[in-house]
Amino acid sequence: MKIISDLRKMQKFCLLQKRAGCSLGFVPTMGALHEGHLSLIRCSEKENDITCVSIFVNPAQFGPQEDFTRYPRPLRRDAALCKKENVDVLFRPSARQMYGAGFHSFIEVGEMGGVLCGRSRKGHFRGVATVVAKLFNIVQPDRAYFGRKDFQQAVIIKRLAEDLNFSVAIRVLPTVREKQGLAMSSRNAYLSRAERSDALVLSRALALARKMAGAGEREAREIIRQMTQLIMARKRVGIEYIEIVDPETLAPVARITGKAAVMLAVRVGKTRLIDNILINT
Ligand code: AMP
Repeated sequence: MKIISDLRKMQKFCLLQKRAGCSLGFVPTMGALHEGHLSLIRCSEKENDITCVSIFVNPAQFGPQEDFTRYPRPLRRDAALCKKENVDVLFRPSARQMYGAGFHSFIEVGEMGGVLCGRSRKGHFRGVATVVAKLFNIVQPDRAYFGRKDFQQAVIIKRLAEDLNFSVAIRVLPTVREKQGLAMSSRNAYLSRAERSDALVLSRALALARKMAGAGEREAREIIRQMTQLIMARKRVGIEYIEIVDPETLAPVARITGKAAVMLAVRVGKTRLIDNILINT
């Protein structure tokens, strides 16, 4: 496996692969890799000649009060995992190269960046869109892989690729969960044992939503009410939002007809966790 930190070297490497006729799959991550990331890597390997993984904790997508400095960075472990998964090239640029002196240009996302997580994380999706656009320009992948776990992010990136004419297919893959249902996330490492047990309430609340919709409940308000009740029964847990939205536009739906995404963000102790499910009535 090649490990490249230099941005120009990476650009050149990818260009040479493409000129040689190889298809390129790309998995952008912030590292602290887990089975969720690995599922994206494995899918890329099935669908492409070359798989490139990036690890970059992107300062532009963290707010001043957020966990940028303490975000886990187990670089050696991540590199070993990538190697074990037969990744062809691991790209680990520095923040200095990505946002050098005089950096001035950002991608502005529309309304979809201001709802749900965007409400409490001002500028977050602008930072995400900017780094993804930069990485797409460096790697020029044929396919890029994202997790449904970050559903809002995936929708915004699909829009970005279409709006700005990136010639890349955006593949969005299902959320990988631990046995008991907790969605895998690098931030789960922050949870104490008791908090981990409390965090199970996220997937349980989503399962409740699915069950209610399956039993014929169509009123979003009623589903949200019962999810809220279930979650608030846990002491260390605070709800940031629970919303049921149109999966294409992220606009809230009052009555569920057809496809809907049930989205939630919850604080367990000091850790902010998100999860979602798609329902189809
Ligand atoms: P991150 O390193 O958190 O920025 O995530 C990198 C990519 O992995 C994003 O596209 C995430 O949506 C995806 N991802 C994170 N957690 C999971 C999961 N549990 N299942 C599937 N994909 C995931």
